[in-house]
Amino acid sequence: MDHKERREDAYNQQSMDEQRFEALEREYERQQSVKQHVCAVCSNTCFFDTAKPTRPGQVYSEAGIRELSISGLCEHCFDEITRPPDEDDDE
Ligand SMILES: [Zn+2]
Repeated sequence: MDHKERREDAYNQQSMDEQRFEALEREYERQQSVKQHVCAVCSNTCFFDTAKPTRPGQVYSEAGIRELSISGLCEHCFDEITRPPDEDDDE
């Protein structure tokens, strides 16, 4: 590795850290905006988490945050309601 490559490596490392920080900031903003809501169906205080399977009150995507502010449903309940009833059938 020559000097030029090493400098670029250090630069990439720095921008990686910045991206991680921005991701954490976005994550925090999501948490704050979601926590202001209580789901109209399951009555849980909403929280942002990308883990699966989803739990009542959970919102896991940007679309879910928008849906929550429009309909007042957490993404977990929204999925339950909008899922076709025969989705798991093997016919
Ligand atoms: Zn819910």
